[in-house]
Amino acid sequence: QVVTVNPEFIMRAQDDAAFRQVLAEADMAIPDGQGLLWAARYLGRPLRQRVAGSDLAPALAGLAAQRGHRLFLLGAAPGVAERAAARLEQRYPGVQIVGTYAGSPAAAEEDAIVARIRDARPDFLLVAYGAPAQDLWIHRNQPRLQVPVAIGVGGTLDFIAGVRKRAPVWMQRLGLEWLFRLIKEPRRWRRMLALPRFAWRVLTSKRCEERNAS
Ligand code: UDP
Repeated sequence: QVVTVNPEFIMRAQDDAAFRQVLAEADMAIPDGQGLLWAARYLGRPLRQRVAGSDLAPALAGLAAQRGHRLFLLGAAPGVAERAAARLEQRYPGVQIVGTYAGSPAAAEEDAIVARIRDARPDFLLVAYGAPAQDLWIHRNQPRLQVPVAIGVGGTLDFIAGVRKRAPVWMQRLGLEWLFRLIKEPRRWRRMLALPRFAWRVLTSKRCEERNAS
């Protein structure tokens, strides 16, 4: 299981024990968010670079096309995974997208979705149900999925399909992707309060560490 961690994930994990366990047990956690790079540097354990889930997914498709790996796209609104698959097939000729399905993270659908994925035998499963639902979904079902790599990808299928726009590259470079999202989707403001809360938490945790050390 690969998790694409951003500050919202970390703040959520503070008081959601199930999600915290998913993050702790993930096989790989990639830093998807400029805030994580800042925090890691500030806390003296710098990370090399940001790897956005929205960049990882197309990069993976490119690699899959070269190496013959099979992809399954799960989640997003009906029709979006199919459009994302068509775009990826156009961009990476020969990529094998062996299944697409919107479905939902509801428990009632779980058995049917798992059966669908097992039948398709993908090497990589991209799950776009938003965090934390997608990551909990993968964690719960991983033992019976028989998929080597499963990744929670948030809004990535929307971006690939072109139904939602990503921040321009200059904003991404300046670490302002969060600002673009806030402007485009103001309803996220409440969730995005996690960002200042995260910054505060990082600043105070370092002060605590220093006080304990002295
Ligand atoms: N989504 C879904 N089913 C749900 C909830 C969400 O398919 O029950 C999809 C939604 O259509 C979108 C993605 O999950 O494609 C969530 O994107 P978002 O950018 O909100 O992800 P997050 O920031 O939460 O990781």
